[in-house]
Amino acid sequence: MKALVWFRSDLRSVDNTALHHACATSDEGVIGLFVVCPGQWRSHDVAPVKVEFVLRTLRELSASLAAINIPLLIATADEIGDVPRVVLDTARTHGCHRLFYNREYEVDESRRDRAADALFRHDGREAHSFTDQSVIEPGEVLTGEGRFFSVFTPFKKAWVRVVTERGGIRTTPAPRKQPPQKLLPSPVPNSLTGFSSGVDPSLWPAGEKHAQKRLKLFAEKHITAYKALRDSPAIEGTSLLSPYLAVGALSPRQCVKAAAEANSASRSPLDSGNEGAVHWISEVVWREFYIHVMVGWPRVCMHRSFQPETEAIRWKASDAHLDAWQRGMTGVPIVDAGMRQLLCTGWMHNRVRMITAMYLSKNLFLDWRLGERHFMRHLIDGFLASNNGGWQWSASTGTDAAPYFRIFNPVSQSRKFDPEGEYIRRYVPELAGLDDETIHEPWIASPLALAGTDYPRPLVDLGATRLAAIEAFKRLRG
Ligand SMILES: Cc1cc2nc3c(=O)[nH]c(=O)nc-3n(C[C@H](O)[C@H](O)[C@H](O)COP(=O)(O)OP(=O)(O)OC[C@H]3O[C@@H](n4cnc5c(N)ncnc54)[C@H](O)[C@@H]3O)c2cc1C
Repeated sequence: MKALVWFRSDLRSVDNTALHHACATSDEGVIGLFVVCPGQWRSHDVAPVKVEFVLRTLRELSASLAAINIPLLIATADEIGDVPRVVLDTARTHGCHRLFYNREYEVDESRRDRAADALFRHDGREAHSFTDQSVIEPGEVLTGEGRFFSVFTPFKKAWVRVVTERGGIRTTPAPRKQPPQKLLPSPVPNSLTGFSSGVDPSLWPAGEKHAQKRLKLFAEKHITAYKALRDSPAIEGTSLLSPYLAVGALSPRQCVKAAAEANSASRSPLDSGNEGAVHWISEVVWREFYIHVMVGWPRVCMHRSFQPETEAIRWKASDAHLDAWQRGMTGVPIVDAGMRQLLCTGWMHNRVRMITAMYLSKNLFLDWRLGERHFMRHLIDGFLASNNGGWQWSASTGTDAAPYFRIFNPVSQSRKFDPEGEYIRRYVPELAGLDDETIHEPWIASPLALAGTDYPRPLVDLGATRLAAIEAFKRLRG
């Protein structure tokens, strides 16, 4: 029987569970399908830089699949609700009796998948779906009472136990080469109207081969120093693999496996031994945790707070403040450097994501959802579960979130994590001439030092806004 593999956020040929099963069980060949859906991307705020990255990744995927005689077809549907019908039509046209895909867990995407399953069944065909986006299927790691975890540390402990009981991380074997077929792959569009970013594509070479190379280099050379260097935005101390995980050019299994191998001297390489490797695995498990949270509490997908009582917060409304934050013109250098890194590169360092998110939600006291959306619209690694998790953490509305009274001071953060102002100088060049002390708070410099630049004075007083935010959260809790 011929099989159809429906690719979505799993754009790789190696260690792709659905592809592996399709290839292992079909005897009349396999066809790949990707459905371009501009309406879905627009309504979910998918960043143009991410769409461009998806298209470039598809080109690489198409070549990898062609090498094993699998043509990758590209179809289009205007809206997410039209996608299941397009998938079924493709199966009918090419005589595919069975559909294989890896599950996605956002509310709209799950609904779409259930609709596709129903259409296939109704048409006398089969649909098979698999766990692939996370190492463990959401809902399979639960508390003793059978509930979803809402706190990370016990989640990670349980996750390690489950993975260990299952014999460790197992990637799938390379997909079996298929019999040659006449059908040709579709051309992959170079661009899509409405999704143009201006970010230099050479910053982010696409495809699973590049992702594998980056993972190997990181695991062999840099993972050991990860714990020490991960918080310094001026240096490349993290893996920069998030865009590859977001489009699925890399699987979380491949990541954890590489890190565990780098830590193979330990008897329990997932949670003890080399500090760098263990810490990095924890970060990948944070991604896993937020996927589980999204499935356990689907309201977080629908712009709702994880902690319902925080819905009562009266956020301020200021288009001018929001605009200044988005453009990197708040007058707080570390915040502005981060926001400009996002616009220039489509990515922002994790420490600075936390600083900019806390500044928006606590100092400017603007609704975190405005920041969440802006990030999604500009991140190459935009991923609802992690983005929402990170924003709700920073705004103290989420699971295992930062306590409302522990508000980062962006100036102290800047001094601690970018002591020589190297990161600030890179993205806020108008401050490059300031010394290492004043660069973190240029308002203490003499006005002459900033003469000729349009770098603004701070939008708000950091101390007063911090106290006001704490008061607002206190009132909420009675
Ligand atoms: C406000 C905010 C928004 C965020 N939005 C996103 C997003 O849209 N997409 C995204 O992938 N990550 C997001 N993160 C998490 C984190 O910032 C990025 O995953 C990380 O910066 C990616 O860089 P890296 O690949 O070098 O990470 P590394 O430090 O090398 O970590 C390895 C991998 O672990 C995962 N990871 C690391 N930190 C986290 C974390 N805190 N939460 C969840 N997963 C994590 C990522 O998949 C990452 O690629 C956000 C964090 C915050 C605070």
